[in-house]
Amino acid sequence: MLPVIVVHGGAGHIPRERSEKSMSGVCYAARAGYSLLQGGASSMDAVVEAVIQMENDPHFNAGRGSVLNVKGDVEMDALVMDGKTLASGAVSAVRNIANPVQLARLVMDKTSHACLTAEGASKFARAVGIPEVSQESLITEYARMRWTKNLAPDANPVESQMGKMGTVGAVAVDREGNIACATSTGGMLNKMEGRVGDTPCIGSGGYADNQTGAVSTTGHGEAIMKVTLARLILFHMEQGQTVEAASDVGLAYMKSRVGGLGGVVTVDPQGGWGARFNS
Ligand code: ASP
Repeated sequence: MLPVIVVHGGAGHIPRERSEKSMSGVCYAARAGYSLLQGGASSMDAVVEAVIQMENDPHFNAGRGSVLNVKGDVEMDALVMDGKTLASGAVSAVRNIANPVQLARLVMDKTSHACLTAEGASKFARAVGIPEVSQESLITEYARMRWTKNLAPDANPVESQMGKMGTVGAVAVDREGNIACATSTGGMLNKMEGRVGDTPCIGSGGYADNQTGAVSTTGHGEAIMKVTLARLILFHMEQGQTVEAASDVGLAYMKSRVGGLGGVVTVDPQGGWGARFNS
């Protein structure tokens, strides 16, 4: 069955006029990751490549196309995790870079830390030669329109996002049986400055362990963190549930326990996979 890659471009209702573009974006990303895997690349290389493709695609809430915070700025979160060593790398509330997932991987590969945030993450990006890009280049007209709409005093940004989440992520198993995950997001619409969601938090936005499998999540970050959704699903797999059943049980628990909606992509070490959502 190996190798396998599963990607997501967020869970929720995608407006009709955007669905074709979203669909072609996830297909393109899956193919980019899969062709690396077929050529013998690692699952880590594959998930990072797939996520970079979706960060570069303005139809997703990651990289260019990210939602805006309440001030109208882009602050992004990303995570990678390597299931062989349990090494992980993350960045949170990072600005002015095109591909936060690439920076998360460098945090894993080149520092002794698991997460760098805000200005510290930017300094690290400069130190490792990642080019700075302008805020403007990350902001789409669609993101600005949704920001403006949600500035209204009676707006409900969380509700408004529930239908249209476009965080991106990927999980993969390579020919060697190594497993990895990657997740990247602009976060929640009109969030407070400095808000950090589930995405860069290990066990919430993603988790990978060669012994059990990998998960990348999307949905309301504050709810996902309450139940550590990625790790919860892997716990159910450790207890003998299939990929799909464990994913459904985890999502159902998040809904019944804290009223949270979301979606996940999941793989197991044999290459079994699932893409489940309740949003
Ligand atoms: N989980 C992300 C966050 O709360 C949002 C999303 O998945 O769309 O930052």
